[in-house]
Amino acid sequence: MIEINPSPIQTIRFRGRSFWIKRDDLLHPILNGNKARKFHTLLHTPSHLYRRIISHGSIQSNALYALSYLTKQKGWHFDYYVKTIPKFLKCNPHGNYLYALRNGARIIENQSLPEVLKEGDYFIPEGGAMSASEVGITVLAEEITDQVGEENPVIFLPSGTGTTAYYLQKHLPYEVVTTPLVGDEAYLLEQFRALEGEGKRLPTILESQKKYYFGKLYREFVEIWVELRQTTKLTFDLLYDPKGWLVLMAHLPRFEGRSILYLHQGGLSGNESLLKRYKREFDEDFI
Ligand SMILES: *Cc1c(COP(=O)(O)O)cnc(C)c1O
Repeated sequence: MIEINPSPIQTIRFRGRSFWIKRDDLLHPILNGNKARKFHTLLHTPSHLYRRIISHGSIQSNALYALSYLTKQKGWHFDYYVKTIPKFLKCNPHGNYLYALRNGARIIENQSLPEVLKEGDYFIPEGGAMSASEVGITVLAEEITDQVGEENPVIFLPSGTGTTAYYLQKHLPYEVVTTPLVGDEAYLLEQFRALEGEGKRLPTILESQKKYYFGKLYREFVEIWVELRQTTKLTFDLLYDPKGWLVLMAHLPRFEGRSILYLHQGGLSGNESLLKRYKREFDEDFI
C-alpha cells in the first residue's frame, strides 16, 4: 500500500527574499508532486475495479513513471501511447522511460488510442488533465489552508496542462499565480475552460518577456536551476520550474509585502534525461 501523508512547508531565501516552499516532492519517493495529487482517486480505487489503465503523452513524462508505478502496485496492466520512441532512447533507455519499462508499462508507438474501451479499462488523458484529478488537488488545497494559518499568501506554480493550478484556485481563498510552459496564455485559458467551463475564478497567468518552447533547452533555465540548488540546497524539476522561477523573479514587485508560497511539484526523476540533454547541448556538466 502506498501511503501519502501531508507534505511540509519550508522557508528558503533566494536572492535576498524569503519564500515558502510546499514540498510535494517529499510526498513519496516515486509517486510525488502533482502526479501524486492527480492520481489520488486512482490510488484509492480498489484493484478489482480495473484491469488496465490506458494513457498517452510524451516519452519522458513524469506521469508515465508515476502511472507505471501505481499500476504495478495495483496489479493493473498499463498501456501508454506515444508518437514515436526516439532511436537513441531505444538503444540507450534511461530516465522515466526506462523506469516505466521496468515497472512493466507497455509503451506503444505510432498507433492511435483505442476507440472503444473494454470492460475494466480506464482512460487517463495526457498529464492527468481530467476532473478526477480534482479530489487530490482539493486535499492539497486543504493542507495549504491549514498550514498557512492567518496569512494570505500568493500561491505560485508553473503549469503544463494547467490542471493543478485550476483546481487549486477553485479550492483556495488565496490568489493562485501560474505561467504556461506548453503554450501561451490563450492555450492555458482553453485548458481551464475544458476542465469545467466558465464562471469560475481562474488563476492569474503571468508571462516571460522571452518566448520559450516547451521541452527546448535554454542556458538561463539550467543556470537558475543550478543557482537554486546551490543557494537553497533544494533540487527543483528542470522542465517546468526554471521558467517558473524566472517568471516569478521577474514579477516580484507585483507581490511586494505579500508572502509567496511556491509549490514544489516533484518530478525529479525527469531531471536525469534532461541533464543528459543539457550536457550534450552545452558540453558542460551542471552538477
Ligand atoms: C506534470 C508536472 C507539471 C504540470 O502540471 P499541470 O497540472 O499539467 O499543469 C508541473 N511540474 C511538474 C514537476 C510536473 O511533473
